[in-house]
Amino acid sequence: MVTLNISNKILNWYDNNKRDLPWRHSKSKEQSHYYTLISEIMLQQTQVKTVIPYFKKFVHEIPNIKSLSKVDDKKLLKLWEGLGYYSRAKNLKRTAKLILKRKKYLLPDTLKDLKELPGIGDYTSRAILALEYNQKVIPLDGNIERLIKRIFYLRKINEIKKENLMLKTHLLGCSYRQRDYVQALMELGSLICKPFDPLCNNCPISNKCASFKLKDFRILKKIKSNKVKYFKVDIYCNKKKIFLIKNNKFNFLKNLLIFPMNEIEAIEYNSSKNKKFQIKISNMNMKILININNKIPNKKGTIVNYKKIGNAIIPSFTKKIFDVALSQ
Ligand code: SF4
Repeated sequence: MVTLNISNKILNWYDNNKRDLPWRHSKSKEQSHYYTLISEIMLQQTQVKTVIPYFKKFVHEIPNIKSLSKVDDKKLLKLWEGLGYYSRAKNLKRTAKLILKRKKYLLPDTLKDLKELPGIGDYTSRAILALEYNQKVIPLDGNIERLIKRIFYLRKINEIKKENLMLKTHLLGCSYRQRDYVQALMELGSLICKPFDPLCNNCPISNKCASFKLKDFRILKKIKSNKVKYFKVDIYCNKKKIFLIKNNKFNFLKNLLIFPMNEIEAIEYNSSKNKKFQIKISNMNMKILININNKIPNKKGTIVNYKKIGNAIIPSFTKKIFDVALSQ
């Protein structure tokens, strides 16, 4: 397979332009594995600039795999609060326990073993293999995907299928500095080959880029169909107290505190004059009808003083609904 022979140019650019990110400051092999694990999981659904303060606080409070394996769940969720997708935090703790059992303080070094860890899929496994074991693999994150689509000018639906994009990663070549090369590709995608208005004049590989030659930078995206679902939320609120339940019913926000809620038909939602709220979780557009009751029900749940809701470990989903309920 003939590769593009671009790795040296990209690495050279990276050496002069890389960002000073906190997870790049590890002081030992164990710490490097830990920092990669935490940052890669945090970055799964969240942008770099949002992750930075969370990462710093997290590793300050929970500095290594051992402390993560023993951390109190409340503390863990509090540190994760605002990042969303709380199952990621819980999976991290489960992963830490498994790592301690199998190989002290270090992540596994094969795709198969990594993918057996909770919350670690194909992308994160490949990222760990490249970043921690310098293996010649390229994980396909959003930045590298965009880079590939532009370099090879992929404009057809079958060309942007994951299998084809994975094949194209081989054409990007590899390096004896694979750890840096993978980060360099991600950095180039993030800082230069931006989604809109790529900075081609600063790009070290513009002479190899088909989109640059054609002056067409549009990105073809897979069409994700968003499901619309309707829900009714019951807010029970009395004398500064609100009633919440642990969610073991819906697949989102599993085991976290939510208001009692049920899925309803669109007709009930559309015909109601109650307050309404919309939010997107994964590829589900949630349309939520808010029903306010001024009594605390006599059933199993958690009662929280709403003045202290900001300090409690409650997902922002629940807090946002409550804000809408309180609004005029
Ligand atoms: S030349 Fe422009 S479009 Fe092509 S890879 Fe570089 S930044 Fe992206």
